[in-house]
Amino acid sequence: MAGPAASGFARSRACPKIRNVHHAKATVGQVNLELLEETLSGEPAYRRRQVWEWAARGATSYGEMTNVPAPLRATLEERVPFSSLAVEAEQLARDGTLKVLFRTHDGHPVEAVLMRYRDGRRTVCLSSQSGCPLTCTFCATGQMTFGRNLTASEILDQALHFRRIEPIDHAVFMGMGEPMMNLDSVLAAASRLPDAGVTPRRTTVSTVGWLPGLTRFIDEVEQPIRLALSLHAPADALRSRLMPVNDRYPLEDVIAECARYVALRGQRVYVEYVMLAGVNDSPDQAHELAKLLDAKLFKVNLIPYNPTGMYDGSSRDAIAKFKFVLDRARLPATVRLTRGRDIAAACGQLATTAKADEA
Ligand code: SAH
Repeated sequence: MAGPAASGFARSRACPKIRNVHHAKATVGQVNLELLEETLSGEPAYRRRQVWEWAARGATSYGEMTNVPAPLRATLEERVPFSSLAVEAEQLARDGTLKVLFRTHDGHPVEAVLMRYRDGRRTVCLSSQSGCPLTCTFCATGQMTFGRNLTASEILDQALHFRRIEPIDHAVFMGMGEPMMNLDSVLAAASRLPDAGVTPRRTTVSTVGWLPGLTRFIDEVEQPIRLALSLHAPADALRSRLMPVNDRYPLEDVIAECARYVALRGQRVYVEYVMLAGVNDSPDQAHELAKLLDAKLFKVNLIPYNPTGMYDGSSRDAIAKFKFVLDRARLPATVRLTRGRDIAAACGQLATTAKADEA
């Protein structure tokens, strides 16, 4: 597992606008996958595979794992908690979106969302950290206390929770946290997702452009995992105002890394651009964006702002005009459907209800 320095935490002290998370606990005692390995260490290797395959296919207990001998199932039951996360609350939105608030064993809140689309697609939105150390001004997660990085088990257990309800086929790392600050756990979880129904091509990791992680993601990851960049502004001054992390990793460097991703993978990078009335939504800014982004490398997702108190969302008309400019410039652009807004499960709204457990 990467230490604080490797994930870029150590340098956060140099930038006062990013909360210092250097002292946050990066590891926890209870790591279910490891505990499982340990408990099965005296058993033939295929046992591990059997237990994992049951879990990945949505088993709800060890008791269901009928090809595992009963005494071993009993030992597992006793020694290895079935999930590293406890479910604290579940909320169902009118559009079928299901949001779950989990707690880690040491009391940190974690939220994840299942999005159900009419075409049958089932996308899980996963958190990589409890809270987030970055302080993007429009995002609710950035306003809550940062807890810690999640372990691979804690990330995977979010997906498995939904897999126990129904089959899943897409995953986005767009929940709480910055995945590139916890890359090892994110990749360890992603590598197991195919067994639960989600292939790398249907897995998307979203980043603010945290370069230490992004560079490693580009250089080291062999699977065709998709990349999304949270951009939100066409130039540095505004982007730094909206996202303080931009002072540390400016646009030009981040865009250059994304171009390297496209060159190596042959896949476009998705750009997320949340539409804030009177802030980043003028036709001039659309022109600027079209100039900044090479249409061969990027595809833009315009995201209606989900209220978090700080800004007003752009009107439909403003979004349409913005998109019109991008269309004319032949920069591929879509307006994202908003899901789960009535239960605060939409982008940037996670965690508004989750308070860190003081105990
Ligand atoms: N930290 C990573 C992963 C989280 S993704 C990242 O920022 O990319 C969450 C996405 O939702 C990001 O694109 C974020 O910018 C967007 N978002 C945050 N707050 C939002 C809001 N209030 N309305 C709409 N989108 C929002």
